[in-house]
Amino acid sequence: MLSKTDFIQFLNCPKSLWLMQRKPEVYPEGEFSEYAKKLAAEGYLVEDYVRQLVQGWPDAAAYSFQDVFETDEGLYARADMLRANEDGTVDIFEIKSSTSVKDSNPHNQLKDAAFQTIVATETGREVRNIFIVHLNKDYVRNGAIDPAGLLTFADETARVKGLLAETERQIADALGLLNEAAIDESSCSCLNLSRSHHCDSFDYFNPGIPKYSIYSLPRLSGKKLENFVSEGRFGLDQIELDEVTLLQQPIIQAHNAGAPYVDLADIENFISVLEYPLYFLDYETYASAIPIVDGTGPQEQLPFQFSLHVLHNDGRLNHFEYLVDQPEPPRRLVEALEGAIGATGSVVAWNKAFENTRNKEMAEAFPDKADFLVGLVERTVDLMDVFKTGYVDIRFNGSTSIKKVLPVVVPELSYEEMEIADGTAAMDGWNKMINEEDPEKRAQLRKALLAYCELDTLAMVRIFQFAETLIRDR
Ligand code: SF4
Repeated sequence: MLSKTDFIQFLNCPKSLWLMQRKPEVYPEGEFSEYAKKLAAEGYLVEDYVRQLVQGWPDAAAYSFQDVFETDEGLYARADMLRANEDGTVDIFEIKSSTSVKDSNPHNQLKDAAFQTIVATETGREVRNIFIVHLNKDYVRNGAIDPAGLLTFADETARVKGLLAETERQIADALGLLNEAAIDESSCSCLNLSRSHHCDSFDYFNPGIPKYSIYSLPRLSGKKLENFVSEGRFGLDQIELDEVTLLQQPIIQAHNAGAPYVDLADIENFISVLEYPLYFLDYETYASAIPIVDGTGPQEQLPFQFSLHVLHNDGRLNHFEYLVDQPEPPRRLVEALEGAIGATGSVVAWNKAFENTRNKEMAEAFPDKADFLVGLVERTVDLMDVFKTGYVDIRFNGSTSIKKVLPVVVPELSYEEMEIADGTAAMDGWNKMINEEDPEKRAQLRKALLAYCELDTLAMVRIFQFAETLIRDR
């Protein structure tokens, strides 16, 4: 059987589809991530608004949802919405939680619709029009959701019909591949692509690649990667320093020396510009397809929580936190932050672009708070930068994520065993908390959210102190 999801997987990577279907026992099926679950749940929510909208139309009876088409050769499709037209034809509606029509990989929505159209046609329907229903990026919530304002019906009939011949060939190729008893499993095409493109099957198809390899080098150009691959040089010890950039060199040096690469001058440059007290700040945000508070639009990030550790130059450490327990614009969050952050002192974030973008958005939403929030942007430094070129341990494996750095430099602190242990789980946990009626469960979720966010900023404090110690003890 070839479903629409299988077909999209085939377009992204035929080998991974083959492995999943023909050798499920070795297919490294990752957990259906919290994020993927959230996306699926949002798709159903959007469909609910489409249903509400359509119910009010005079021809509502002509629409049906989740019709299934199945062909004898094993094609399977489920149409989000179908309209039975008076002339016997049907219109197909694909419902998406995106704010535009996606027409390229990894999730080409036009190909989705072309697949649906072909399967519907093969089961005897004549498809007249094809629509992608997506969210209107300009919609701003004001009171109850207005489905007519929220949704955009994009008539993609011409573009989808233009793809039918190509899609038919690709479906035939996919079915042909799935009939193959064996394929070349000795490598796969992601060898020539950076790590962000690799799926969970990379190690299966490329078992000889060392744990720390050319794929550990951040921002390696496609051309260089291809050269290294064509010469069979995968290990970091096979790469000369002058073949890579200044950002990539410390990773090779740390690997080859078997010890962390340390550039004390670089670390000192970072520390010397800091002004005490230091405010270690982290936001948690909720991004929902359907805006949950007035004044926001689809897929906008809504800050609902912050953790703030304040480190004074005499070593005192204070902690402030804020977590809202209902959906609301983040004005009270900003007020709480304003109460905790003084007029002077550096703000320290990890990956500061995220915090700064939220600060700029909130400055726009609350003009009376703009001076404070824009001031924060100007005062914010990025502790992550230290771990790009100042201190690099090969165990970071080329990443500067706090989740990779913390266990190496401050092993006594850990996200393991936490009920909420990453940003996506925090989003999900907050959504559950605000909708939870049982006070005990609500309190439990609140506690888990506070613990997670507090660890984020405490981790930054300890990592900073680790860097400071390197300078002090030199
Ligand atoms: S890593 Fe290999 S199997 Fe996975 S997507 Fe890339 S080419 Fe396909």
